[in-house]
Amino acid sequence: MRVHLFFCAVFISLVSPSSALGWGTPHIAITKAALQALPPAQQKLLGLELKKLGEEYCLIPDHVYNDKENARFAKMESKPDVLYLLNLHLPAQQEGNLETLRYFMGKAVEALRAGKIGEAARFMGTVCHQLEDYGSPAHTVPGDNMFTLLQQFLPPSEGMKGQLLHSPIESGDLEVSIIGYQAKLLGVSVEEAAWRLLHRVNEGILNARSTTIPIIQALYAEDTNAVKKWQLKAATMDAQIVADALYTMLSLGSGKIGKEDRGALQKNQISTYFPLEAESLYYPQSQFFSKPNWGCPQSGLILAQGKQVTPLSLRIEDAGAVEVKTFAKGISAGMGRSLTFLLPNGVYQNFRVWAGLHPELGKQGRVEFAIIGDGKILESVIVDGSEPARLMQCEVSGLKKIELKLNTPRADGMKVDAKNNYAIWAEPTLLKK
Ligand SMILES: [Zn+2]
Repeated sequence: MRVHLFFCAVFISLVSPSSALGWGTPHIAITKAALQALPPAQQKLLGLELKKLGEEYCLIPDHVYNDKENARFAKMESKPDVLYLLNLHLPAQQEGNLETLRYFMGKAVEALRAGKIGEAARFMGTVCHQLEDYGSPAHTVPGDNMFTLLQQFLPPSEGMKGQLLHSPIESGDLEVSIIGYQAKLLGVSVEEAAWRLLHRVNEGILNARSTTIPIIQALYAEDTNAVKKWQLKAATMDAQIVADALYTMLSLGSGKIGKEDRGALQKNQISTYFPLEAESLYYPQSQFFSKPNWGCPQSGLILAQGKQVTPLSLRIEDAGAVEVKTFAKGISAGMGRSLTFLLPNGVYQNFRVWAGLHPELGKQGRVEFAIIGDGKILESVIVDGSEPARLMQCEVSGLKKIELKLNTPRADGMKVDAKNNYAIWAEPTLLKK
């Protein structure tokens, strides 16, 4: 992240030359670590550009004002007048982040296919920068990039009074290594890869958020080792994500995709993905529900009476016998609220999910489960708390979004207290066939 105000930029650059560059030198350490983890054939494909990608191209989005020659590799055709593209440094909402990732990944792959390795490496540098900045401990609080709000929660030590924290949080000499990490293929098309990379980098953002407060506390305590330890936690995961992205772009660009890699992508379970309602990857209070209790959607658990963590289980009918099965993957949610997920273009054909009520907590309940695609109901069922869960399936080809919605059905003379509507979406999965 570059400081926009000229005065600040000059001031900071006098204090420390690298501090105006976001991760600054760590960008280089992270990109190099990721490049080292690539298979030798991919390193060879990059040839002489490999070194430049690690040392220069990963900084292109920070240098657009000075490096006129390379600035075009950090520009989007849809935004021809924007030289400094903020979204390459700071995550916004998921749809915008996805658009940016998809665009630059697509450009890199296109250049690779045309044999233009130098251009491809520069676009890849831009993708690396975006991923690294999103996973930087200094880019973690939406709308508070200088931590002036966070410092009200964590008042500074005497020595740190008045300091802008952005640069101290992310600056330093880091030695990053992910030797032994096996980079993963994120998709067999740019569409699929960018979409899966979005969810991968969301994990990186959360990882970075977990380091920000410990780093600030270590800065106040002037504990340089602790600052470094927490920075490294963020940088290591960044390097793994960057390695996945580079591996994927180089695989797509060279057309060399292993069977095993391809097989692993046939289906995709989405219970840990953030829906669009979780703006900036958390649920704002407007997204809370009141029934079955006051709460927000949760992945992997359900809260009994709004407080007690309880595993997700459902009654499942198999060959005439009904048994209770516990699901590690799934989402509990409340009435009247939707969970909306972006879909990649032309990748998945079907969606499948178990819909039901928790066998103990929800046995007196009655819930309408609806799957909505681009605003139209694709499938809806009403499940009674005493019934087994239903396996819902629908076609999703061509859709941009799916929405999972829960409602208390109109009573039809039946008395339903929505407080018992402990609803669960278990194993929500997108399938290619
Ligand atoms: Zn930046």
